Amino acid sequence: RAKDVGRNGFQFYSAEMNNRMRERLYLEQSLRNAIGLHQLSLWYQPKLDLASGSVKSAEALIRWRHPQLGMISPGDFIPIAEETGLILPIGAWVIEEASRQLAKWRDQENQDIRVAINISAYQLSHGKLTDQVIQALDSLGLDPQSLTIEVTETAIMPQMDKAVCELQSLREMGIRVALDDFGTGYSSLTYLKRFPIDILKIDRSFVSDIADDEESGAIVKTIINLAHNLNMTVVAEGVETEAQLEFLRTNGCDEVQGYYFCKPLPSEECLEFLRCRR
Ligand code: C2E
Ligand code: MG
Ligand code: MG
Ligand code: MG
Repeated sequence: RAKDVGRNGFQFYSAEMNNRMRERLYLEQSLRNAIGLHQLSLWYQPKLDLASGSVKSAEALIRWRHPQLGMISPGDFIPIAEETGLILPIGAWVIEEASRQLAKWRDQENQDIRVAINISAYQLSHGKLTDQVIQALDSLGLDPQSLTIEVTETAIMPQMDKAVCELQSLREMGIRVALDDFGTGYSSLTYLKRFPIDILKIDRSFVSDIADDEESGAIVKTIINLAHNLNMTVVAEGVETEAQLEFLRTNGCDEVQGYYFCKPLPSEECLEFLRCRR
């Protein structure tokens, strides 16, 4: 066997590498043009408030419709945007687009609706985030209370001091900060105390087996109590079943988000959904 690995093994490997590099380069080049060609859009996934049974907010999730490759999910292009620096123009577009949508919904439908946007590490450390956000809100006459910023522990950690500073100034303006995918990062509870946050979002991986697995259940209950003891709101993401919803309701979770309740939707469909839920 060792005999065939040599040449053929190497050739196969380098051909595959080559293809992957070409594919990646192609994606990178098309991503550069995606904003200008209006290929990006935001979809919205509602969050359900368990105490009132009403929808008070929705999370904006980016979508890229590529003319040849079809719909590309953020998991596949956000990392490229982050590595190339394209996350700055894309992130700025997300802030503006989400604010425009928020203003529209507030006019058309619901004065109290709030929108959450996801923010990457580089946006947190390059020093312009607060200004960008304030400018977008001001130009539309929006109240900072109506916007939530979602960040992960992994986005805060690389340049923690800068990130914490940026989050603090956003909060001073009245913008809420949510810690996304909580429980999957590598930060300790010491950091949780230092991060200026209002909302904890329990990662989907804990939620998925709360109803059958005692340990996950115990972890989720603990996170809910932890959040409440720190005066934070707690949201469960990735709720897919009635049993999960019941568990979360029984254990005092504040808000839920997930396919069981509603998938991410294009803005017009989300508006329909908001209307039905009123
Ligand atoms: P996230 O912020 O944690 O968003 C939750 C992801 O879980 C979304 O995937 C959502 O569609 C999916 N999801 C929601 N409910 C369920 C459920 O019940 N079951 C399952 N299996 N999945 C559910 P999506 O839209 O593919 O986004 C993936 C990630 O990409 C996001 O994770 C976020 O980290 C990032 N992302 C999305 N939009 C943006 C953006 O505008 N800017 C930045 N920087 N990152 C973004
Ligand atoms: Mg999020
Ligand atoms: Mg999340
Ligand atoms: Mg996630």
